[in-house]
Amino acid sequence: MSQYWSKLVHDLDPYVPGEQPKDQRYIKLNTNECPYPPSPQALAAIHAAADETLRLYPDPNADELKDAIADYYGIARANIFVGNGSDEVLAHIFHGLLKHDAPILYPDISYSFYPVYATLYQIAARQIPLRDDFSLNLADYSGENGGIIFPNPNAPTGMAVGLDAIEQLLQANPNSVVVVDEAYVDFGAETAIPLVAKYPNLLVAQTFSKSRSLAGLRVGFAVGHPHLIEALERVKNSFNSYPLGRMAIAGAAAAMRDREYFEATRQKIIRTREATVQKLSALGFTVLSSAANFVFARPPEGNAEAVYLELKKRGVLVRYFNKPRINEYLRITIGTDYEMAEFLRIVADL
Ligand SMILES: *Cc1c(COP(=O)(O)O)cnc(C)c1O
Repeated sequence: MSQYWSKLVHDLDPYVPGEQPKDQRYIKLNTNECPYPPSPQALAAIHAAADETLRLYPDPNADELKDAIADYYGIARANIFVGNGSDEVLAHIFHGLLKHDAPILYPDISYSFYPVYATLYQIAARQIPLRDDFSLNLADYSGENGGIIFPNPNAPTGMAVGLDAIEQLLQANPNSVVVVDEAYVDFGAETAIPLVAKYPNLLVAQTFSKSRSLAGLRVGFAVGHPHLIEALERVKNSFNSYPLGRMAIAGAAAAMRDREYFEATRQKIIRTREATVQKLSALGFTVLSSAANFVFARPPEGNAEAVYLELKKRGVLVRYFNKPRINEYLRITIGTDYEMAEFLRIVADL
């Protein structure tokens, strides 16, 4: 029946999310979710929002949420765009700010949604190889381009770059939008948000899915010069005026305001990550330096696929990418101390 499909749909090669199996209980270390529950204040706000006002449309501008983010970062409401997960925010960024005549630039090993959006929105792209040690060399991002996007810390490597390198990139590319995807920034990198005041071509994307334990609520945001934000609002209001429901706005705003819970959660993850790195190294794994809530590690024999399959058999899910350069590595999300102890016990037994 695919004669009914558009040519574009034929050409799509959609993103494949990590497994969310329902056949048995797994120790789930494969999709970078947070192992801890959301802030109790966020849950209370979501419950409170589930009332008779649900018959009404939500605030199309999500001002309560924008104000909570503005307050946290000391910026203005006009600097903030919010959407249904940062994936949706990124889609509007590709459509509204990265689609130009020249190809966009992103790392060869990076978030696999970028090539998908490039195809969806028919944007030419050039992949810039990471160095042999998987570090990101922003000096390689030069020449005419329609825009630049990279995660910091990068996924799935977990490796971060510093703000000085990002600043040099912004100065070297004043005519392109530079997008820093900070999905994992809270676990050990420095946010570029303070640079927004100085660089009108910088856009920073963040999500509530990882460090704020709200992957199921679907909330993400971008921070940039009001002129960039206006472009995103124009795309959004030509697509879906109400991307965030009442419960999502209330829950995410409350999560943003609960700084104490957020701090405690991310510190726990960082501590567990450091302990996990040590133990994996002691087992002979090569572990890349991680500033994220996951580690990227090569088993001693480089037999990542076999280790992935064996772990799955024994009830532990990790992520394996059958792709050039990284097919000897596993991406392992940091869970609770208990989950990591179980994982390490099984790994030591393989
Ligand atoms: C998880 C992730 C996102 C998207 O998160 P949402 O759940 O859509 O907010 C964006 N970028 C990177 C690099 C990610 O890993």
